[in-house]
Amino acid sequence: MPANKQFLLDSRPKGEASASNFRMVTSETPPLKDGEVLVRHHYLSLDPYMRGRMDEARSYATPQPLGEVMIGGTVGEVVESRSPKFRAGDKVVGMGGWQEYSVVATDQPGTLRKVDTTHVPISHYLGAVGMPGVTAWYGLMKIIEPKAGQTIAVSAASGAVGSALGTLAKTHGCRAVGIAGGPEKCRYVTEELGFDACVDYKQHGDALSLSKALKEACPNGIDGYFENVGGMVMDAVMLRMNDFGRMAVCGMIAGYDGKPVPMSYPQVILRSRLKVQGFIVSEHPEVWQQALLELGALVGTGKLRPRESVAQGLESAPEAFLGMLKGRNFGKQLVKLA
Ligand code: NDP
Repeated sequence: MPANKQFLLDSRPKGEASASNFRMVTSETPPLKDGEVLVRHHYLSLDPYMRGRMDEARSYATPQPLGEVMIGGTVGEVVESRSPKFRAGDKVVGMGGWQEYSVVATDQPGTLRKVDTTHVPISHYLGAVGMPGVTAWYGLMKIIEPKAGQTIAVSAASGAVGSALGTLAKTHGCRAVGIAGGPEKCRYVTEELGFDACVDYKQHGDALSLSKALKEACPNGIDGYFENVGGMVMDAVMLRMNDFGRMAVCGMIAGYDGKPVPMSYPQVILRSRLKVQGFIVSEHPEVWQQALLELGALVGTGKLRPRESVAQGLESAPEAFLGMLKGRNFGKQLVKLA
């Protein structure tokens, strides 16, 4: 069995996470038992939620245990099988973690899923046609409930979730407005993803200034907002929400390193009779099949062209992860492992 490089969580961050919180080890892959397969990972997904798992704070999910392989989504190929459900050569998506190989017991439902790479590149099953895409789909379809002609805004618009959100909003006949950091990301959001407008929040020092820019981008106000960030960006959007607007609260990345993300204008929730709803995509397995079907069709037909930031080799995972938390990624952050 092959030697397997792995990253373990070695310590919990105090404030900002750092590379020293992770430790690389090499272990022997155990021989397969009946019902198990050996998967060679081709890509590891790096996602903001991993930062939350590194802490011990109360959350919707249990913390990542110290001394164990970091949790993470992976795509790859079955290289050896003792399961009737999979054959060597099958392309699969699973939760293999920060390591080069994983041994998976296939009798537990949902641990490993075969994917068709004929029309969709395998890496997209970690992005637009995977968990981040379904996240966008759920927030839009089940919370925002878009109607043609309405304006839908999203923060972290160039990222894995935001890019899918904008494309989905356009397919429902909406005006899609992104908020992103920097002119290059904003150009990508409008020119390649097809959003109607994008506002660079880094050009604005406070919520009132950002809100003014949003007024220009959203002349009819904002009917639906998909929140990925929190803090100043959320404040600025709140000031532009239309009556009976819907806010899908998906992420608060501005606060993941422990900084408070205060909300300055909660009175708008009452004044404008807003619906504000948080959600966790893994708690809604009932929508995944339909969402993946729609997202797969959008990618397969070229209507959704997601961008990827690909770091090379497992060794690069900690720095790529920390960079993503600071916006150094451009699109879905992946690590190429094979
Ligand atoms: P992205 O690919 O969008 O990467 C994160 C982006 O967040 C960065 O590129 C950066 O973009 C932006 N960002 C980071 N720090 C800040 C900050 N302080 N202020 C404003 N923007 C910042 O990540 P994902 O698409 O994978 O995830 C987007 C969000 O969705 C995250 O908050 C994540 O936690 C959440 N999520 C929630 C799920 C759920 O079930 N609720 C499931 C999946 C994701 P920029 O350069 O534009 O600032």
